[in-house]
Amino acid sequence: MYEDDEDDYQIPCPKCGKEIYEDVDQCPYCREFLSSSDFKRPTPAWIVVIVVLTIISFLLASCCF
Ligand SMILES: [Zn+2]
Repeated sequence: MYEDDEDDYQIPCPKCGKEIYEDVDQCPYCREFLSSSDFKRPTPAWIVVIVVLTIISFLLASCCF
């Protein structure tokens, strides 16, 4: 049984590859400054669902009213 602390999400540093916390501004290992643009996060599924539902409701509204 693993006991990974999922509250502290860690990512590999884009510069040195060490595991660092996602919300730090600077890598503690290589002193590379981090910006959110360095990490391409996948779009959360709920956002996709909301967008799709919005589009569908627009389509329904435009054809039925
Ligand atoms: Zn680093």
